[in-house]
Amino acid sequence: MDLRLDDAQREFRDEVRDWLETNAPRERFAPPSTDEGLAQHRAWERQMFDAGLAAVHWPQEYGGRGMDALSTAIFYDEYLRADAPERLNRLGLGLCGPTLIDVGTPDQQSRWLQNILTCEEIWCQGFSEPGAGSDLASLRTRGVVEGDEIVVDGQKIWTSHSRYADWIFALVRTDTEAPRHRGITFLMIDRHQPGVEVRPIRQMNHASDFAELFFTGVRVPRSHVIGELNDGWRVAMTTLKHERGSGLNTAAHFRRTLDEMIGLMPETLRHDAGVQREVGRLYSEIEAYRYMTLRTLSSIAQDRQPGAQASMGKLWWSEMQVRLHEFGLRMVGERAELIDLGADEPSTLLQRYWLGRAAQIYAGSSEIQRNIIAERVLGLPKGTNRAV
Ligand SMILES: Cc1cc2nc3c(=O)[nH]c(=O)nc-3n(C[C@H](O)[C@H](O)[C@H](O)COP(=O)(O)OP(=O)(O)OC[C@H]3O[C@@H](n4cnc5c(N)ncnc54)[C@H](O)[C@@H]3O)c2cc1C
Repeated sequence: MDLRLDDAQREFRDEVRDWLETNAPRERFAPPSTDEGLAQHRAWERQMFDAGLAAVHWPQEYGGRGMDALSTAIFYDEYLRADAPERLNRLGLGLCGPTLIDVGTPDQQSRWLQNILTCEEIWCQGFSEPGAGSDLASLRTRGVVEGDEIVVDGQKIWTSHSRYADWIFALVRTDTEAPRHRGITFLMIDRHQPGVEVRPIRQMNHASDFAELFFTGVRVPRSHVIGELNDGWRVAMTTLKHERGSGLNTAAHFRRTLDEMIGLMPETLRHDAGVQREVGRLYSEIEAYRYMTLRTLSSIAQDRQPGAQASMGKLWWSEMQVRLHEFGLRMVGERAELIDLGADEPSTLLQRYWLGRAAQIYAGSSEIQRNIIAERVLGLPKGTNRAV
């Protein structure tokens, strides 16, 4: 893949930059968990859609621009450069939409895709359950086929954005006799329908980014099955393929965080050779990560499974997240201990991220990624977790 910008890419970069300079809101939006914030975010996403910028990586026939990995990276770089609002419908744009494009029927595509782009319908991902996280195939939420409907009972946990989402793409067990990876169905569930209850989880960093979901006798039309009944594992692997390729945004985000940290540093530290070396190392790691992700995205675009390569990217990204925020907190110094977690300022975000440690857990924990790399890249035997 050639990483030099050609004329078309430069033109696209200028278009995005100009548009964002004119249109990106100057004021920070209220949180999307409030009515005001939700309305602001939705309106912004709609504006992006009208400008043809909602999902540049989606194929043109589905409302995207069919952009390649490098152009998608250009878009995210410009987006962060403009300090534009966090994307509200990330799971719709990055996971659910691409899965529908790959596996959905034309009816399903026309039912849901456009509303993802316009943000009329916000999506969340109902995969994890208590007892089914890393070992997702042990999920127990039941789906019983009754005529043209599937009746869902069970519990999901750690469901991000579910407080304001409209739809859930979920995995349910529809055949309890089949081997674990079969008998699972990928289902689109209306979050507002009777029997769906959302209970927010309060985190130690004072945020409430996710919730538990409870399903009691929730009736879902069979037409909401993506792929075939009992073939949901295969569909879920398509979703995870897209999840693992979605790190470019993170590389740009890391760059911005590092810049913010440099901004927070006391003047004396800025001149310290040790600190400068550390900044240089972090900067190089971020750039290395960015190119690693471009390679993964380029494999996905050529319809090759990124495989263990994606695990290396994910591991790098999650560990980087922690190192970066640890560095930031050291730069803030003892003031870090006095940070008010309720406030909304850059140093607070450092503390929140550092306490959150989320990146080492979601989208496959660091231990799971190391297992994959050990087995599939290094050819080591499967681990037994036995003490040695
Ligand atoms: C911020 C955040 C957002 C999330 N959002 C969503 C969401 O929107 N939708 C959703 O469905 N889920 C979501 N999750 C859940 C996430 O996918 C799970 O937390 C993750 O898969 C780990 O599962 P678990 O929490 O059950 O931990 P477990 O799987 O129980 O793991 C516990 C610990 O054991 C380790 N471990 C487990 N198995 C092995 C093994 N074989 N070898 C070595 N170590 C092992 C793990 O690495 C971990 O340290 C989110 C999680 C976070 C943190």
